[in-house]
Amino acid sequence: PATSLQDIVGHAKEYGFVFPSSEIYDGLQAVYDYGQNGVELKNNLKTAWWKAMTQLHDNIVGIDAAIFMHPLTWKASGHIDGFSDPMIDNKDSKKRYRADQLLEAKAEELAAAGEPEKAQALLAEMGRLLSAEDLTGVRELIIAQDIKCAVSGTTNWTEVRQFNLMFSTQVGSVAEDSSTIYLRPETAQGIFVNFLNVQKSGRMKVPFGIAQIGKAFRNEIVARQFTFRMREFEQMEMQFFVRPGTEMTWYNAWKEARMKFHVALGLPADSLQFHDHDKLAHYANAAVDIEYKFPFGFREMEGIHSRTDFDLRNHQDLSKKKQQYFDAELNEDGKPYGNYIPYVVETSVGADRMFLAVFCNAYTVESVGEGDSAKQRTYLKLHPALAPFKAAVLPLVKKDGLAEKAQEVAASLKSTFRTTYDDGAAIGKRYTRQDLIGTPYCIVVDYQTMEDETVTIRHRDTMEQERVAIADLKAKIGYEVAM
Ligand code: ATP
Repeated sequence: PATSLQDIVGHAKEYGFVFPSSEIYDGLQAVYDYGQNGVELKNNLKTAWWKAMTQLHDNIVGIDAAIFMHPLTWKASGHIDGFSDPMIDNKDSKKRYRADQLLEAKAEELAAAGEPEKAQALLAEMGRLLSAEDLTGVRELIIAQDIKCAVSGTTNWTEVRQFNLMFSTQVGSVAEDSSTIYLRPETAQGIFVNFLNVQKSGRMKVPFGIAQIGKAFRNEIVARQFTFRMREFEQMEMQFFVRPGTEMTWYNAWKEARMKFHVALGLPADSLQFHDHDKLAHYANAAVDIEYKFPFGFREMEGIHSRTDFDLRNHQDLSKKKQQYFDAELNEDGKPYGNYIPYVVETSVGADRMFLAVFCNAYTVESVGEGDSAKQRTYLKLHPALAPFKAAVLPLVKKDGLAEKAQEVAASLKSTFRTTYDDGAAIGKRYTRQDLIGTPYCIVVDYQTMEDETVTIRHRDTMEQERVAIADLKAKIGYEVAM
């Protein structure tokens, strides 16, 4: 796995995975474009998630809701009033920071300097001030801790202000009759407002789930760490509607299921951990993060939240439309459970954050050979199901009909899994090209192929080769690349 984020950013750009957005204009902060290989890897991740969350369950279906939603949605969800970060500017450098992140960095510094009690006390004080919304107190704490701006080196701070993270825009053609709408900061609300549409049209019975993959937008104040924190990103969310009182059972079940998913896709169990939230969001009665060990430390990749009936109840209040479900199943007294607003357990993972985790984990630098002939080999150890290409077909040499034969083999595989063909450069160099983008199998057509219709398969991770009949390729590789 990668130990430096710089290596990852460089590799991602050089091999067509991720480019800075509008790079010819020097880029746009915290916005990225996926290149020809990145889009394949990301699509494969999304497909794996979709399959794990919908196809493998009888009681979970998917939707694709619009990014624009009625403005009241964000009133009901609490985003208009509560979705903000405390922000502070340095008056000299005009540089903007998140006040909580400045204090957290200071606490880390104290802990690293052998003063863990002071670090703990600082975090506790910060938590207290933020929950009391005492922004003046937060500023005083920053000054008392002598926290300097990294750019100007001064402690000349403005007051702390709450900065709403939602992007807004106008609908309507003329200013007077236009109204403000927001780009959704999470996909979940598109599911909540469609809860009854799906339940009724699909005759769904509680417990059931609705899954969605889609873009979300947040005007992050400090956007760093590559695709970890973006202003435009993609979420994969699933809201699971349950009978009130059963939510903790489902919460624990989903917690385990989601951890297993990440391990199945190749993230090692020891680079993953649960992190329970001590401070719960306004909508939750239990919450846990699945954290991955990024090059910059263990950080949240996915959240599992028990959201109670917070969202549906608020939508009911604001829309004046009942958000109830009639549960015909009989309780202990032999009576139907009857009408209620279901409770919700949600799983929410960022596609771009998961992409970064998978990419960091796959990035492998190894020395091969011994003594003077020892060399460094870099390759992406991606799960075959996630790799942009499953196979590359390479003729050993271009002449004597080998190129034509190899093209024929490639054409026969293409409709089953993504296959590339390459006849430029020496064979070793062509292996390297495939290693760098994580292609698990190189299929080589040589002179023996022309005699007996067999090829060699060279395995990416072990570099071992085996002889296989062309007729068996589809079954052999097809099995490996399936989820
Ligand atoms: P953080 O504390 O890191 O800002 P969060 O707790 O606000 O994250 P949630 O609102 O729970 O995140 O969103 C669920 C998931 O969406 C996160 O686990 C993460 O994978 C992803 N996500 C959230 N914000 C971003 C972002 N700015 N860029 C990329 N992915 C994001």
